Amino acid sequence: MKPELKTGLQPEHDVIIIGAGVSGIYQLYRLLEMDVKVTVLEAGGGPGGTWYWNRYPGARFDSESYTYGYSFSRELLDEWNWSEHFSGQPETLRYLNHVIDKFDLRDHMQFDCQVKSAAFDDEANIWTLTLADERTLTTRFLLTAIGMLSAPTMPTIPGVENFKGEAFHTYYWPQEPVDFTGKKVGVIGTGATALQLIGEIAGKVGDLTVFQRRPNWCAPLHNGPIDKEEMDEIRSNYDEIFARCKVTPGGFIHGPDRRKFADVTEEERLEFWEELYNSRGFGVWLGNFRDVLVEEIPNEEFTKYIADKIRARVNDPVTAEKLIPKDHGFGTRRVPMETHYFEAYNQDNVHLIDINETPIECITEAGIKTTDREYEFDIIIYATGFDAITGAFDRIEFTGVNGQKLSDKWIDGPITYLGLQTAGFPNLITIAGPQGGSVATNFPRGIEEAVEWNTELLKYLRKYNYNRIEPKADAEDEWTAHVKHTYSYSLLGNSKSWFTGYNSNVEGHDKIRYMIYNGGAVRYRERLADVVANDYQGFDLR
Ligand code: NAP
Repeated sequence: MKPELKTGLQPEHDVIIIGAGVSGIYQLYRLLEMDVKVTVLEAGGGPGGTWYWNRYPGARFDSESYTYGYSFSRELLDEWNWSEHFSGQPETLRYLNHVIDKFDLRDHMQFDCQVKSAAFDDEANIWTLTLADERTLTTRFLLTAIGMLSAPTMPTIPGVENFKGEAFHTYYWPQEPVDFTGKKVGVIGTGATALQLIGEIAGKVGDLTVFQRRPNWCAPLHNGPIDKEEMDEIRSNYDEIFARCKVTPGGFIHGPDRRKFADVTEEERLEFWEELYNSRGFGVWLGNFRDVLVEEIPNEEFTKYIADKIRARVNDPVTAEKLIPKDHGFGTRRVPMETHYFEAYNQDNVHLIDINETPIECITEAGIKTTDREYEFDIIIYATGFDAITGAFDRIEFTGVNGQKLSDKWIDGPITYLGLQTAGFPNLITIAGPQGGSVATNFPRGIEEAVEWNTELLKYLRKYNYNRIEPKADAEDEWTAHVKHTYSYSLLGNSKSWFTGYNSNVEGHDKIRYMIYNGGAVRYRERLADVVANDYQGFDLR
């Protein structure tokens, strides 16, 4: 990319991408096709992002593997075989490394590179990045591919540093497998991560104690192997699979049933729900009657149905009741998919502690002390989640025009245009950023579109010799208000979770923040196309 600069200063790079996960890998591929001078800076010791870090036992897709992989290369689709319907972390990491090697991307990536800050020079239209190793790099355009769940948070419980045994946040799981044999293990948290982990290790540990603050509604994943014959069939259906993902709001193969809850008899309803509960993947959440996630009464009815499933699967009625959420309906927080989760509590070596009844007072040298007693452990696992979506931005000091800090601008929640850029920070493009279309969808489907859109934008800027792009304030205000409005489209906007910007471990994140575009992938795609058709309407190009 060789823009005509208005000043004599030239950056070292045309583009720097921060992050070598699913977004960064594909963005790099597209930029190399354009013959731009680009480098990827990755904090991890290797590529893969989410799939590099989250090595905890049981980590796997909740999306069908064959809808999660990239769709841009027929050759890649033809040669890659998924071994399971919902691939585990090791296989996914192998896949991403395979993509990198196949397309010769590795030489353009720098690992163990933590970006500390990025500052924009308003005169020269250049970003200067400072790394933890004190190097500085300059670039015309800065693209963030830093993930939405990549800033893990530890609980704010006193004494975390005192524990003498092994302790990990699930995100920072060791590269070497952890031996659980005969070990006493404590887990804090019962989100999607904890559920996968608990189901996987319950049969391997000596003794497992789970500290639960709020239970989550969840449903069986029904994973299974894919043999050669089935993989061949999937391969021959890729066009249909991706076409299907294009028309559903979430970019999954599962989309809402066109019927409403009250359109069918009770018998038909139960039959349909049984079918959903017993089928693979997110159908039970996203393929339900179209009003189940929107209207209170259908939601309450389905919630009762799922509560009975928990009662049927957990032998001890007291434990079963503790595992049933009381503060939100099914599907109004992101539904974790589980394998053997509820059955784990039927084992004698697995115990559930409701920390609302007996709050955790502190972490001690030996374990966890609640108001009731001290529990001793060999290993404590913190499955306590993330400072989602904006957390990774807050961990880099972005300074825009007039010295404005991005963390100040976004202190009450992100403000963006299309989830792709933010005013006052020219030439900063947030691939799959806050308020973008991909965050609430099957991630790779959304990011492929965002990457392709950004690539076309950069081609346009090159064609017309622009070296600066920034959203107009009114366009940004309209988009941010629209994103807020999309929270009224479903019941998901009502519950406290990372979808609504809550995190009890981060100061100030105790109120709703409008993080996600909830209008669905189809409408988002249409909006992006409209903006292009109107010569990048809403952007100031110079
Ligand atoms: P999460 O859903 O935010 O869950 C964190 C858990 O830790 C919650 O149960 C939370 O309780 C608890 N917790 C946090 N701070 C605590 C404290 N101070 N004391 C006690 N408990 C505390 O995080 P996550 O499980 O890592 O999942 C985050 C997201 O990652 C998921 O929603 C999903 O989108 C993604 N994910 C995807 C997959 C997959 O694709 N298969 C797998 C794992 C994760 P409260 O509920 O009371 O806050």
